[in-house]
Amino acid sequence: MDKMKVVVTGGTGYIASWIVRDLLKDGHEVRVTVRKLKDKEKYVHLLNLEKKYEGTLKIFEADLLKSGSFNLAIEGADYVMHTASPFSVDRNLDPRKDLLEPAVQGTVNVLEAVNRSKTVKRVVLTSSLAAIYGDNRDMDDLGIEAFDETMWNSTSSLDNNPYSYSKTMAEKKAWEMVGQQEAWDLVTIHPGFVFGPSLSKRVDATSIDTLRRLLSGAFRTGVPHLEYVFSDIRDISTGHIRAAFTQEAHGRYIIANENGSFLKMAKIIKHHYGDQYKLPRRIIPKPVIWAIAPMIGLSKQYIKNNVGYTLKADNSRSIQELKMTYRSLETTLIDHIEQLRKDGLV
Ligand code: NAP
Repeated sequence: MDKMKVVVTGGTGYIASWIVRDLLKDGHEVRVTVRKLKDKEKYVHLLNLEKKYEGTLKIFEADLLKSGSFNLAIEGADYVMHTASPFSVDRNLDPRKDLLEPAVQGTVNVLEAVNRSKTVKRVVLTSSLAAIYGDNRDMDDLGIEAFDETMWNSTSSLDNNPYSYSKTMAEKKAWEMVGQQEAWDLVTIHPGFVFGPSLSKRVDATSIDTLRRLLSGAFRTGVPHLEYVFSDIRDISTGHIRAAFTQEAHGRYIIANENGSFLKMAKIIKHHYGDQYKLPRRIIPKPVIWAIAPMIGLSKQYIKNNVGYTLKADNSRSIQELKMTYRSLETTLIDHIEQLRKDGLV
């Protein structure tokens, strides 16, 4: 396809790095934003890509909370992929200041820059399954077999799953803003819990930190029966790129595949690596988890509404319309662990 000018926000991040790499590989001109140009250690991988694809990657500074800071990067661009947003479930954060404001205000700042540009045709927003459902029990309450793209998270708030709330409010803001003009359209991508090899040696992204903790023995005594739907980072990158360049693509796309728990992850890892890692071997019963909730950084409300429920997501729209094929959780995890081992991070 023709060479396009594509902006990717949050280039220091786990997911954005893969999108940038794949766009460059496909021959596009990429402008990537980072929060602070001076923090070069956060984007060594981008500097390497800049050398490899000489002249086609430009790095800009832009902060989600600074109005106007995306204007320069987005001016004259054809497509924008907005991935930057804080991803954290740390209960010590201030949910409004650290999650909601950067997610929503960042989306407004990016989309105002898109409006100013007069050149952008489509925005692909990295939303989340977290904007589709709030708690795992929602599926039971709704009496459905799987979540799909018609559904919206209606149970999260600043007090209950604030990260999910930040993603929901940011996506709602994006749909509101696209409805106020006709120059560009919006497609949203909804990953599950993303794993897969990282292009950088950073370990603070929630996905990477979670896998390293699983391998290091942090959950050795056992894990709650808590289900997720998993996504491979390379599938997530493909999903963003197809959502941008498939002309008929529209609306929301779940890009996620297998469901399962930390125990399922542990069994896959044990099958490949034997006893090399201190993996969890059993499920801790819900009443025990309930009793120790504060000690393990989970609220009782979260345990009540999430532990013990099946979680599934329907990815058929992405298969039919974006022609997605999915990697297995096994491939995702093994490739991720191999990258961590190669980089000396486990
Ligand atoms: P990540 O590695 O933590 O990346 C987050 C990115 O957002 C980083 O580049 C970060 O910059 C940037 N950011 C945060 N606050 C900022 C601010 N005030 N100004 C500018 N940039 C800011 O996480 P990720 O997993 O790649 O997540 C990327 C996107 O995917 C997020 O929108 C997240 O909600 C979504 N998502 C992730 C998952 C998952 O399982 N990983 C699942 C569903 C959806 P710094 O490096 O400077 O902090």
